[in-house]
Amino acid sequence: MGCGASTPQQPGGVPVKVSPAPVSEANTTLNFAPRASVDDGSVLPSARSMAGRRSSLEKVMSLTERASPEQVLQNLLEGNQRFLAGESAHPHQDWERVQQISAKQKPLVAILGCADSRVPAEIVFDQGFGDVFVCRIAGNIATAEEVASLEYAVLDVGVKVVMVLGHTKCGAVKAALSGNAFPGFIDTLVDHLDVAIARVDSMNAKQAEAIKAGDPSMMDKVVKENVKYQVQRCQRSVVIQEALRKRQVLLVGAMYNLDTGKVQILCTKGGVADDAL
Ligand SMILES: [Zn+2]
Repeated sequence: MGCGASTPQQPGGVPVKVSPAPVSEANTTLNFAPRASVDDGSVLPSARSMAGRRSSLEKVMSLTERASPEQVLQNLLEGNQRFLAGESAHPHQDWERVQQISAKQKPLVAILGCADSRVPAEIVFDQGFGDVFVCRIAGNIATAEEVASLEYAVLDVGVKVVMVLGHTKCGAVKAALSGNAFPGFIDTLVDHLDVAIARVDSMNAKQAEAIKAGDPSMMDKVVKENVKYQVQRCQRSVVIQEALRKRQVLLVGAMYNLDTGKVQILCTKGGVADDAL
């Protein structure tokens, strides 16, 4: 899983209060109607899946600042597995949690994701208030401002995983591939995606033609290439470089599948999973 090489350089309210309620199993199922159980096919969660949910919830809530970057990433991916199985634990989504973190946030994960409404990080990874430092922008592009936000998350907030999360059928990538001119500031957004498109274009003319014709599988190739490119841009940050060198963080590229809900890891930098840092 490689993100490719990079050249070090610096890239140019108050929540609505609800009735306080104790943490309980009922609390963990308020926001979602459970999907069909993986155990018996019924629409109601089985005893086994409910027990599994309790176990997942306890595990998520026991993750502390002492966890390694690898453990934090594993915890995040397990959240996606719960979401996929229709067994989301909905941790940290009660009023008690809101009050607990009102003075200081301490999320362990930062995500640079697309603004697309179909990719809400907390839901996809089954997280809650104060768990994920999320930066969202169309095309999940690592502009200087977005990278600066991630630098803040690493330096001051203390996150241990920085993830660039792209997704299939990305409208920003599709717009960039069209080659059309756009009004307002949209062109500046598209400019950030041109490198990924150029990389795929350089594969061969037939593939480029398929992409421009809207071939979904080829579209996904551009999305993946874009994630890897934005990871490289993040890697140019001297702040992130230093945190990677000290093994304090993992920098990860991933893609969310709109059809399946699954998150696929594309590349990892730092820690024991380092590939050509
Ligand atoms: Zn998108």
